[in-house]
Amino acid sequence: MLNHIRIILCQPTHPGNIGATARAMKNMGLSRLTLVAPENYPHAEATSRASGADDILANAKVVNTFEEAISDCQWLLGTSARSREFPWPQLTPKEAADKAISLSASGQEVGFIFGQERAGLTNEQLQRCDFHLCIPTHPGYSSLNLAAAVQVITYEIYQSFLANNEMELPVTQFAEKATMEEVTGLLAHFETTAIQVGFMDPHHRKKLMPRLKRLFSKAQLEQDEINILRGFLKQVTRIQS
Ligand code: SAH
Repeated sequence: MLNHIRIILCQPTHPGNIGATARAMKNMGLSRLTLVAPENYPHAEATSRASGADDILANAKVVNTFEEAISDCQWLLGTSARSREFPWPQLTPKEAADKAISLSASGQEVGFIFGQERAGLTNEQLQRCDFHLCIPTHPGYSSLNLAAAVQVITYEIYQSFLANNEMELPVTQFAEKATMEEVTGLLAHFETTAIQVGFMDPHHRKKLMPRLKRLFSKAQLEQDEINILRGFLKQVTRIQS
């Protein structure tokens, strides 16, 4: 139930937070950590803060880009301290944990994304997510330390794991959702077609792409559906030319 869940840290700057994240994950039974372009890593402080969880660090996947980190994920859950200008489907940490556990139990790849200490996740990164989640805090000070945020979310995941394990719930069968790489391909195809057929002015894009990203996230597209849409786009450009 926990094997298909990964924690993705985007451009973390403090090695201590990377180590503390590994420890938080191991406490809660998670083992898959991806680091996107960490600023100072490997680093002695990461190893020391990981304490007994240095195996999580040793097995962490280090990649250069966000796209590489998410390409084989089927579900992305983005964490953020504040709500952004563009509203997105939201889950509470508990709802997100329950969803992740049932998806992982049925073999689907789930990624929880955490942002950089200062800036958090970019709008672009958040717009690739299926859901956003925010840890409720005192309104006057909502930003948790990165590793503390990982601890809260992984705690919820483990509680959900325990509850489902005790009840021995039957595994829910989810349709096989497309991977992020496939969705990225569809988005790029839509973008070029929209420009090519004169539906979108490349110099005045307005909000078309973020809206399409949100639409595709809500639709939870399967691979076959992506193929239909891409086949349709191909035919549209064929007729145009
Ligand atoms: N100034 C940034 C905060 C970055 S804190 C911002 O406003 O987004 C670093 C990371 O910790 C965030 O990107 C997020 O992944 C996580 N985090 C911190 N506080 C959180 C909260 N209240 N809810 C969910 N995630 C949080």
